[in-house]
Amino acid sequence: MMPSKSQLKKDKYFLQVEQWKKKYGLPQEQEKKIKWQDLTTIKADRICAKKGCDRTFNLHRHHKGHDYIFACILPDVYAPRYIQYHNDDCCYLCKQHHQAIHRYYAPVVDEFFKEIVGLTNKDLEYCCERYKARLTKMCENFIQVKVRNHVKSKRKSMGGRKHE
Ligand SMILES: [Zn+2]
Ligand SMILES: [Zn+2]
Repeated sequence: MMPSKSQLKKDKYFLQVEQWKKKYGLPQEQEKKIKWQDLTTIKADRICAKKGCDRTFNLHRHHKGHDYIFACILPDVYAPRYIQYHNDDCCYLCKQHHQAIHRYYAPVVDEFFKEIVGLTNKDLEYCCERYKARLTKMCENFIQVKVRNHVKSKRKSMGGRKHE
């Protein structure tokens, strides 16, 4: 059976992150002690960062500045920090709000890819810094905007459990 497009994308993502970990990660011994968390799905006792969203299941760890694209473009600069999933850089979002933030980013990401054509070294890094700050700001604004009650009503209609 052919793997789905999203599965291929996911595989590519994990492969890329594995390569970065090999190149920029901590020595094996230290790595074992830290025990890398699962990359995308968090089962711990957490809640979606989006204001008013009470989802505690299927949470994804999200880099607020969409750091992945910058790590792809300038791995020496951004990948070592990316693979550490710093608390300051990340937040937890439910699947729906994780997809929503990436849709919200999309036009800005397009703009970024147009702007970096032909740039090298310092100019490129400067451009990455500017866009990373901009995307981080977008994420911080996005999570501050309160969701309407659809989250709860949807769960009720699906016959889900009552939440305290
Ligand atoms: Zn994300
Ligand atoms: Zn959410």
